Amino acid sequence: MKLVGVFGDPVAHSLSPAMHNAAFRALGLPYRYLKFHVPLHQLKKALRGTVALGFEGINLTIPLKEAALHLMDRVTREARRVGAVNTVTCAGGRLLGHNTDGEGFLRSLKEAWGFHPRGARVVVLGAGGAARAVAFALADAGTRELTLVNRTLGRATRLARAICRTLGVKVRAYPLGPRTDWPRLLGQADLLVNATSAGLKREPSLVPASALAPPLKVADLIYNPPETALLRVARRRGVKAINGTGMLLHQGALVFERWTHRRAPVEVMRRALTQALKI
Ligand code: NDP
Repeated sequence: MKLVGVFGDPVAHSLSPAMHNAAFRALGLPYRYLKFHVPLHQLKKALRGTVALGFEGINLTIPLKEAALHLMDRVTREARRVGAVNTVTCAGGRLLGHNTDGEGFLRSLKEAWGFHPRGARVVVLGAGGAARAVAFALADAGTRELTLVNRTLGRATRLARAICRTLGVKVRAYPLGPRTDWPRLLGQADLLVNATSAGLKREPSLVPASALAPPLKVADLIYNPPETALLRVARRRGVKAINGTGMLLHQGALVFERWTHRRAPVEVMRRALTQALKI
């Protein structure tokens, strides 16, 4: 039996075991995906433990993704630029860190709408870990205009500079708040991404309803609740909108493919995820 799993604190809520174990079963692969409660101060020992125990790989969730970057033997370009590792492959006693969030997000856009960011104008709300993964992936995929809007302006400015330095793409940064005029940018934008956690606890939408109109599309990274206030208002105004389930699914499919070198059974994983979200 090959062992894989997820470390986090908390970790009980993780939907990854359901999604991955369903995929392993469907393909008859001898893998088992487990979840482990690992506090930050135990991460180094826990990672070394995966090597000692012969794990194939491990996923990392809050609050371990950033700290893990410095505990890897090697990291991919994606993980380095995002500054976080969500997937570790254990090979030959060494830890290789990667990040599948950005590519998972791009795949979810393609699946939902056949949307490719090349030449698109995109506004991203947020400048935390998820926003970082999404913004780098969008810039790398050739967005024409990328704007970051965040409550803490300094964080958005730092991320904009990091993207410019790494990829040579110019990115604008705006503060979120009642006295800024970023919503006017939505009139010319192709896509709005909510990568903040505003909505997780059913907070009101950060976006004025009047700024939402087709042909703008909206992607909210939040998947639970499945419909945030932002998505509700967008749909009411005839704007196409998706939640974060597709990103979660596709980042998981990419993890599966890295570990098993097999094509992920995406429909099996989607069904398992949908089922787990209902429980
Ligand atoms: P972080 O804690 O790293 O960042 C949180 C971001 O949200 C910051 O930009 C923060 O702004 C902003 N924010 C938080 N509360 C508010 C508020 N009340 N009003 C305005 N802005 C706010 O979190 P992550 O980046 O890891 O996660 C962000 C969201 O993305 C979460 O909801 C998470 O569930 C979701 N996510 C979804 C994934 C998927 O696969 N679908 C994968 C990863 C994350 P500030 O900088 O000012 O504090």
